[in-house]
Amino acid sequence: GLKVEDVKAWIMKTNEQIQQNKEYLSELDQAIGDGDHGTNISRGFQETVNKISSTEYTAVADLIKDWSMTLLSKVGGAAGPLFGTALLKFSGAVQGKEEIDYGSFVEGVEAGLNGLILRGKAEEGDKTMVDVWSPLLTYLKGREALDADDFEEAAKAAMENTKNLKAKKGRASYLGDRSIGHLDPGSVSSYYLFSSLAQVIK
Ligand code: ADP
Ligand code: MG
Ligand code: MG
Repeated sequence: GLKVEDVKAWIMKTNEQIQQNKEYLSELDQAIGDGDHGTNISRGFQETVNKISSTEYTAVADLIKDWSMTLLSKVGGAAGPLFGTALLKFSGAVQGKEEIDYGSFVEGVEAGLNGLILRGKAEEGDKTMVDVWSPLLTYLKGREALDADDFEEAAKAAMENTKNLKAKKGRASYLGDRSIGHLDPGSVSSYYLFSSLAQVIK
């Protein structure tokens, strides 16, 4: 299972990925939004790393809660609060656990996705980060253990699939059909979140 140190490594790795791809994420958002996704999300993750680096945790839920609260309070735009809400619900699902085993990870992702949908009102197929979270939940529910490479592949496939979709929520929806042919920025940062976890457990 994932212990406090593993979740810390997961956050650090995600931050690394996001900082390295900050410009790329903003370019993706330039094409179908307002061009700030990389700036928004990189600020939130850097603030998270600052916060968790200077705090001792005994419970995984407390660590994930601080992560979520930092994203909720430090990131403007749509994606920060949405990521924050998903992670807040995730932390609630693993409350009181010493480590996150496979079953509680699946419950965490499910709670996170439900939070995301409740807050953002997007459905699968609307070309939002839901299009990474939702297929991954389906993937996880169909298995009993995490195969890091396979999980990363599934996350990548879901992310790449957003290219073909027409945006129905968020700023990209203003473009209508012209949003087709571009990756959804929030799905790419969600892919970094899940692929970083895969890399940490390898
Ligand atoms: P903003 O659009 O406010 O500038 P960002 O650029 O940081 O915020 O984030 C845009 C991303 O947020 C999109 O690529 C999409 O994945 C996600 N998003 C936008 N609206 C929604 C929604 N209603 N539900 C889920 N995700 C959404
Ligand atoms: Mg934007
Ligand atoms: Mg914006």
